[in-house]
Parts: sequence; structure tokens; C-alpha cells
Amino acid sequence: MLLLAAVEPTRGDEPLPPDVLLVVPLHLHILRADNLPEIDCTLTEADLNRILSKVNQIWQPARIQFRAASRHVEQAAGLEAFRSLRQLLGESDPPLPRYRPLIPRDSFTDDGLHVYYVHRLPVNGVYLGGRQAMVQDSASLRPVDGGIDEPLPRVTAHEIGHALGLAHRPDRTHLMASGTTGTRLIDSEIATARARAATIPGTTRADKSPPPINAADQNGEADHAGGIDSTTHLPHNPGSPSDSN
Ligand SMILES: [Zn+2]
Repeated sequence: MLLLAAVEPTRGDEPLPPDVLLVVPLHLHILRADNLPEIDCTLTEADLNRILSKVNQIWQPARIQFRAASRHVEQAAGLEAFRSLRQLLGESDPPLPRYRPLIPRDSFTDDGLHVYYVHRLPVNGVYLGGRQAMVQDSASLRPVDGGIDEPLPRVTAHEIGHALGLAHRPDRTHLMASGTTGTRLIDSEIATARARAATIPGTTRADKSPPPINAADQNGEADHAGGIDSTTHLPHNPGSPSDSN
């Protein structure tokens, strides 16, 4: 609540001090797909909490924090057309633009960024534009010195980087390197990302430092498969520990 009390709406006509924390709403979607294992994502709420915690660690140097505005476990849209297309292609993966229709329209909102998790994509992740990114839960990355210990938070943070206006960098230890575990951000990227983040609907400014990352969330708890109903929309709960990360 202390954090919430310190948060104010962003004001586009005022300068953005570099020490002000930007809090960006982030909507996380697990897309399920009956009888289509290539799409069906079986991540759990515990996975999402762990991913979010590590995404926030990666973006902490930029003083940008992502707040879990909502979590969804929902059926992918357009599955019949997608299945037919796969059959036409001899059961190989369709090109990336054909994954966009899998996004359910009902759960899209006017604020923040949306990340959709599916089981498999032709790439680890893609920023689709329109504040929407898609990530495969089977992502794999090339390890680099100092890199992160698992792919999904890095891929998620990388696609968020694209959403915040960043392009690829060749240096393998950087967040915007393609396909590595690198997480470094440079000052010019931080400036670009902060300027873009401030314009995202729903972004707020907090004048206090972010609270420490919750260690339990970092480590992740054992998956409890019964913890998420396959049709449940899990709304943001202001009192939940995952909020304060
Ligand atoms: Zn990229």
C-alpha cells in the first residue's frame, strides 16, 4: 500500500526525472489449446510469478517496474483455422503472422503491455506491435557469462524491450542480443525505454524506490497444477505479495 500511495499518474507534458520509478501494467496470458499440443501452454501461476519477478530484476537498472495487472488462463482463439493451416503445411509451424489470430480479443485491455505464452513458436518470442508480445514456453537460449539462469524471463524481458522501442544489439551479454541469456542494458537503451514506457496507457510514476524483490518469488514454488483453473481470469489483487515486486 505504501507503494500504491506513492504512485501518481504519468503526465506527458512534464520532464521525466531519471530517478523516478515507472510502474507499467503487465497482463500475462497463458493460452491453452485443446487437441493442439503445439500451442497448448501449461505454465502455472507460480511460473508467472517467478517470470515476473525476474523480469523486474532485469529491468531494475532502468527503474522500470512491471506490475501484474492481470493474469489469464484462457483458450486460444482461431484454433480451427490454425489447425487447418498446419495440416496444409504438412504439420509444420506456420509463419509468425499466422499466430496473431490466436490472441483472444476479450481479455485485451486499453492499458499496459500484454504477453501471451504458447507452447511453441518458430522463434523464442515476438513483439507483435500494439502492446502485444508472444513467447514460447519451450524457449531455449545460448548461455553467456553473467546471463540469467532460465530462458522465459529473459525472452519476456527482451520482447518487452522491443515494445519499449529497443532494437537488437550484437553484444551477446546484452538484453537486446538475439537468442542469448544476456540481460545488460546500456544508458541510451534505458533512456529510450523510459521515454516509451511513460507513454504506455496506465503507466504510473512512483517517487519512492521499489521494494526489494521477494526472495520466495525469485526461487519459485513447486508447481501446483490444481492452482489455476483452465478458464480462470485471475484479476490483480492489490494485497497479494506478487504485487510488490
Ligand atoms: Zn528480438
